[in-house]
This record gives sequence, C-alpha cells and structure tokens, in this order.
Amino acid sequence: VAKARNRGVAVYDPSEDAHDPGRLALLSELRRAIDQRELVLHYQPKVSLSTGDVCGAEALVRWNHPQRGMVPPDRFIPLAEHTGLIGPLTRYVLDMALREARRWADEGHPLQIAVNLAARNLTDPDLVDDVLRLLEAHQVPAHLLCLELTESAITTEPEHALRLLTQLRAAGISLAVDDFGAGYTSLAQLKNLPITELKIDRSFVATMTTERSNGLIVRSIVDLARNLGLTTVAEGVEDAEIVDALAADGCSVAQGYHLSRPLPAVDFDRWYAANRAL
Ligand code: C2E
Ligand code: CA
Ligand code: CA
Ligand code: CA
Repeated sequence: VAKARNRGVAVYDPSEDAHDPGRLALLSELRRAIDQRELVLHYQPKVSLSTGDVCGAEALVRWNHPQRGMVPPDRFIPLAEHTGLIGPLTRYVLDMALREARRWADEGHPLQIAVNLAARNLTDPDLVDDVLRLLEAHQVPAHLLCLELTESAITTEPEHALRLLTQLRAAGISLAVDDFGAGYTSLAQLKNLPITELKIDRSFVATMTTERSNGLIVRSIVDLARNLGLTTVAEGVEDAEIVDALAADGCSVAQGYHLSRPLPAVDFDRWYAANRAL
C-alpha cells in the first residue's frame, strides 16, 4: 500500500497517516486556504454532440497555493474527505459555482453548472437544505445545477444516497453518475436511482477509437442510458475522431481537452464567446 501511495495512485489514504506531520501541516493549510479563499474554480465546457451548442460547464476546484502553486484536487480532496473539511469545502465550491451560474444567466446565456460531490457529502444531514439555500441565495433555478456523484459514493451508503438524491431531484436539480463504467453499479441500482445523466469514464472514451473493446463499452453504455431515459456525457474527449465516433453512437454530450481544458472564469468567458455554437 505504501508503494502504491508513493506512486501517487488513487488508493492513497491520508487517514492512515493521521500523525504524519506533513499531513497535519497540509490539513491546517487547507483549513486556512478555505478561509482565505485560496481555492479557485476552473470551468470545463460540456458541448451537445447533436447541435454543437455549449450546454453547460463542470466546475473543478484547484488550490492556488502561495508557495506550491496550483495544487490539483486529487492532492487535497481525499484529505478533506478524511477529516470532515469536505463539508465546508463543498459549500464553498457550490457558492462560487452558483455565483458564476447567476452571472452567466444575467449576461443572457444561462448554462447549467455541474459541481462534484464527495462520498462523504452524501451522509451530511444538512447538505440538501444548504444546497437549496445556496440556490435561493444566488437566485439560480434548480435545473441550472447538476450534481455529479461517483458510483462508489452511491454504492457505499446506498440508503443515505437514495434518500438524499430523491430530495435533490424532487427540487429539480440534475444528478449525474460520474466515472460511469469504472465501478460496479448494478443495473437494478441504477434503475432505482433518480438520476438524470451518466458520465462515461474517460478511461473508455479516450481510447474508444484505438481499443475496440473500449469502443464497444462506450456504445453499450450509450444504449443502456438511452433505454433508461438518461443523458450520456462522454468525458476525456481528446480528439476529433472521438467526437465523430461518439456522435455516431448517439452520445448526447462531450467534454474533454479537444473541446477545451478546464479554464479560469475569465478565460472560460472568452472561450464561450468564440465557441458558443461550435
Ligand atoms: P472528475 O470529476 O472525473 O473530473 C474530470 C477530470 O478529468 C478533471 O481533472 C479534468 O481536468 C480532467 N479532464 C478533462 N478532460 C480531459 C481529457 O480530455 N483528458 C484527460 N486525460 N483528462 C481530462 P481534475 O480537475 O484534476 O479533477 C480531478 C478530480 O478531482 C475530479 O474528477 C473530481 O473527482 C475531483 N474534483 C474536482 N473538483 C472537485 C470538487 O469541487 N469537489 C469534489 N468533491 N471533487 C472534485
Ligand atoms: Ca466530475
Ligand atoms: Ca469523471
Ligand atoms: Ca474521476
């Protein structure tokens, strides 16, 4: 495990290192970062494959650290999850994202904003009330918010998840299953969840035109989603060939470096002005 951790792969578990002074320092810095507003959001467009319209954007957090520079989320989200800081962090991200959504609507081009939830957020008894309160505070209609949850977040606490998702969906918020295909969500589970969107994991999408089996997996996820009445979003769209293959498969929406990298708000606005109908 230690070796895996040193290679920086996803199994890294900071809770095992509760007494590691480096971890503790990072934790107190992260606490400070939230207070000092050092966390920033980058926005990555989601583009309709049938019309070419930009239909929304995903908000992705980064830590603009005074010494370390831009710290990617994989380096601090797991730590936040294991220490309870994820609660304030998620609310802070939602607040910034909804502010941006309000501004886009005010400028005459409402876009749906997608925000990632962590597994730990699903057991937070105040989350639903706080999300609704933030929508109200920013005067953003619920359909302009999409919350993205990973398969594992949904399946580790299925009863909590079902109750929470049902409340969010009843309020009109869109719900996406993130990294779909990478985990083990059963069809029975999917069918019973009030979700609106499947985001196909980028490990399949990025290689769908070079590895035949991955192309087949993408196509069957698109078919599955269509039969369940769900929107499909392909993430990890890295070239034009993938765009064409996805369109041929009937996938609804594309997201990836080929369209745009995640951008700071100012650059996103500029990109949007130049590409609003691709
Ligand atoms: P994710 O939700 O699956 O987000 C997509 C990740 O793929 C982003 O990495 C994005 O920059 C990257 N990506 C986008 N297009 C491409 C592409 O064409 N090719 C490749 N190779 N990668 C692409 P990022 O921003 O580093 O975020 C990593 C993960 O951190 C996210 O994965 C999400 O799980 C988590 N995360 C990010 N922001 C938040 C947040 O505000 N809250 C929570 N709880 N988690 C977050
Ligand atoms: Ca996501
Ligand atoms: Ca994803
Ligand atoms: Ca991911």
